[in-house]
Amino acid sequence: MCIFCKIIDDEIPSKKVLENENFLAFEDINPQAKIHVLVIPKVHIQSFNEMTPNIMAEMTSFIQEVTVTLGVKSDGYRLITNIGQHGNQEVKHIHFHILAGEQLGRLV
Ligand code: 5GP
Ligand code: ZN
Repeated sequence: MCIFCKIIDDEIPSKKVLENENFLAFEDINPQAKIHVLVIPKVHIQSFNEMTPNIMAEMTSFIQEVTVTLGVKSDGYRLITNIGQHGNQEVKHIHFHILAGEQLGRLV
């Protein structure tokens, strides 16, 4: 089982931010900003390449709820999903990084 599936099952502890039947948001163990949260579907999907429009639509609403919970919606944040080798994806369970809580440097 992948490490994020173990986090979903509470086999690996995590600092949870928000959870519903289908999605979980939890703090990244190695934060790259003052606020760094990962959002994952509870079903194991490897990457954005395997996402379906329906799950993506539900996940969009959930991520928006997470930004409200974190209190970052109006000030802004960065949403990232790394895909595959060239994208430097380390954990092969799709996740969106929410980086927030401070002025972020420009990437693109
Ligand atoms: P990726 O490089 O795959 O886009 O991001 C994987 C992220 O998962 C990294 O930011 C890393 O710090 C985080 N991570 C890896 N293992 C764990 C863990 O066991 N717990 C938590 N909370 N985050 C993890
Ligand atoms: Zn998984």
